Amino acid sequence: MWSNKLKGLLIVVSAPSGTGKTTLCHMLLKEIPTLEFSVSYTTRPPREGEVDGRDYHFVTKEQFERMIEEGDFLEWANVYGNLYGTSKSQVLKALEEGRDILLDIDTQGALQVKKNFPEAVLIFILPPSLEELERRLRKRGTDPEEVIERRLKTAREELKKALCYDYLVVNDELEKAFDQLKGIITAEKLKSERLEGQLNRLVKDPKVVELVEEG
Ligand code: 5GP
Repeated sequence: MWSNKLKGLLIVVSAPSGTGKTTLCHMLLKEIPTLEFSVSYTTRPPREGEVDGRDYHFVTKEQFERMIEEGDFLEWANVYGNLYGTSKSQVLKALEEGRDILLDIDTQGALQVKKNFPEAVLIFILPPSLEELERRLRKRGTDPEEVIERRLKTAREELKKALCYDYLVVNDELEKAFDQLKGIITAEKLKSERLEGQLNRLVKDPKVVELVEEG
């Protein structure tokens, strides 16, 4: 288990595909400029428009396996036959420097992170219903029938793990879900243990109250 003295906030977001997780994560990153995205490593080939180093670090299976052996990952998982992993050094460095970091990872990875790093804030985004999820997946029109079926089957499995998360957000209306996500992050940043340093200074100097208010 890693140190709990890290200053930044580690936020982990998971959701079944088609729930709107990517959109919500982009909205959060735009809204909170100090929030950093953890760029994962993957063996899956880039999709059109994806940029190496921005969306993912695209690597070969051999490179990925070498990184596993060298202990470079905070977590890693096999998702739909491709390997995905989070760089331990990138995340720990950000947290040590007091930067907040956002991980968009699957449930297997999220639970590994929570096990090793209990202060991580795990947020699961739920579809309003499985019928609605199916409707959204079909509406996207990007996947053949068997892929849609597989995604729905995986979604049912992932939903079973939702209760291991700290927060559940239903993406019924995008703006409402976005507000709830922002609310979670704000509340987490205001936890007394995170503000202990400021509080100690306040006890010594009443002027420091301004610092607490500014967060
Ligand atoms: P996609 O290939 O569609 O970008 O991602 C497929 C799934 O892999 C998504 O659920 C995404 O959250 C997850 N994923 C992306 N990066 C990582 C990672 O570093 N670790 C794990 N465990 N899952 C990841």
